[in-house]
Amino acid sequence: MEKIVGVKGMNDLLPQQAPVWEWVEQTVAEVFRSYGYQAIRTPIVEPTALFVRGIGEVTDIVEKEMYSFTDALNGERLTLRPENTAAVVRACIEHNLLYDGPRRLWYVGPMFRHERPQKGRYRQFHQFGAEALGFAQPSLDAEQLLLVWRLWAALGIAPADRPVLHLNSLGDLSERLAHREALVAYFTKASDRLDTDSQRRLQTNPLRILDSKNPDMADLIAGAPTLSSFLGAASKAHQDAVCEALGRAGVPFQMNDRLVRGLDYYNLTVFEWVTDRLGAQGTVCGGGRYDTLVEQMGGKPAPACGFAIGVERLIALLEEVAPVQPKPATDLYLVHFGDQSEAAALQLAEHLRSEGLRVVMHSGAASLKSQMKKADASGAWLAAIQGDEERQAGTMVLKPLRAGPDQAGQQSVPLAEAAGLAKKMIEQQRMQSRA
Ligand code: ATP
Ligand code: MG
Repeated sequence: MEKIVGVKGMNDLLPQQAPVWEWVEQTVAEVFRSYGYQAIRTPIVEPTALFVRGIGEVTDIVEKEMYSFTDALNGERLTLRPENTAAVVRACIEHNLLYDGPRRLWYVGPMFRHERPQKGRYRQFHQFGAEALGFAQPSLDAEQLLLVWRLWAALGIAPADRPVLHLNSLGDLSERLAHREALVAYFTKASDRLDTDSQRRLQTNPLRILDSKNPDMADLIAGAPTLSSFLGAASKAHQDAVCEALGRAGVPFQMNDRLVRGLDYYNLTVFEWVTDRLGAQGTVCGGGRYDTLVEQMGGKPAPACGFAIGVERLIALLEEVAPVQPKPATDLYLVHFGDQSEAAALQLAEHLRSEGLRVVMHSGAASLKSQMKKADASGAWLAAIQGDEERQAGTMVLKPLRAGPDQAGQQSVPLAEAAGLAKKMIEQQRMQSRA
């Protein structure tokens, strides 16, 4: 039979990588909790209109990256979510989550964008995200940036290896409109140097020309008028408050007045955390304020701020600068032989699990030597061995598998005391592996 392979740009997470992902997910969840963020899970499929209205019609995502399809059963237009902010906002409005005050929400899950697959860029990828809704104060923007900074620390990334925070302000609508006029005038004068995408965007969404990745236009874009010169007093005060809070907390950052972000819903604070350790795909986290999105989606106006972290890029960065050494996931590998040993081992393994141990039982008959090899390869802390002799005596043998040379060897123990001794022997090995 011909084999079927997975979809290009959509990855399997294999067992050898799973412990790192699990550890990162737990660590990130704990940091979110420590800032009062509550988890939210929304569907992977949403109405196409949600993203068109939320992200903006003239953006890379909506113009060319969405997996959209018609539900064959009822003709609805649906899309695999390319990002999750619009969906979280939808859920908040639909379930009236903001009725008794602001909310801090977080999520993790797969996103889908039809891009050219390459290192750090996939068609199914994962994001951790935070959305804080109902907060107008710059202290909230600052708090989110401190959260991300704390996250790098929690993941074991030394300060010098952390992504660098790039910060900008997109001002308010009238400031953006004034900037837009200046941009149109600037790019119209140089319209012969614009690629076809940008010529079209000159009419529809000139800000988007600024995040074009076409190297031929880099000089032209570098000379374009920046939004910072159009900011009024209120926008400047908001920006200053964020910068001052970062300064007080000792979080380094760079102002970057070229930073515009690829989605339309942002205003005031926008930011990206960028690393130089991953080559071209160096943006690990991006976000900012979206004070008008809730209203635009049909809710009561509520200012908001959020960000998303690309999990694949984050894990690639960890591999470069702070490799995670996962601890064994199994406590005991149960080795057994002799008459009817399979049935007895099944029962014994259940007993040990009831005592709180993680047990893998050898399946099928094999020599002691071959079972011990399997026990070692399983990564378990201990082998628990039971043959006919031990079974008759009501005992088993516990043998440490990760012990250093100066540690006790194997011990025979009555069943009733086995779980207690196993825990002690695991703890000894744990201490030693830490030392
Ligand atoms: P880029 O400029 O790299 O295309 P983006 O601005 O489109 O990124 P966002 O929409 O801000 O990305 O998403 C937030 C984060 O999600 C990014 O900073 C990145 O870490 C991650 N990300 C985005 N697209 C992909 C992808 N196709 N594959 C893997 N990670 C991605
Ligand atoms: Mg993109």
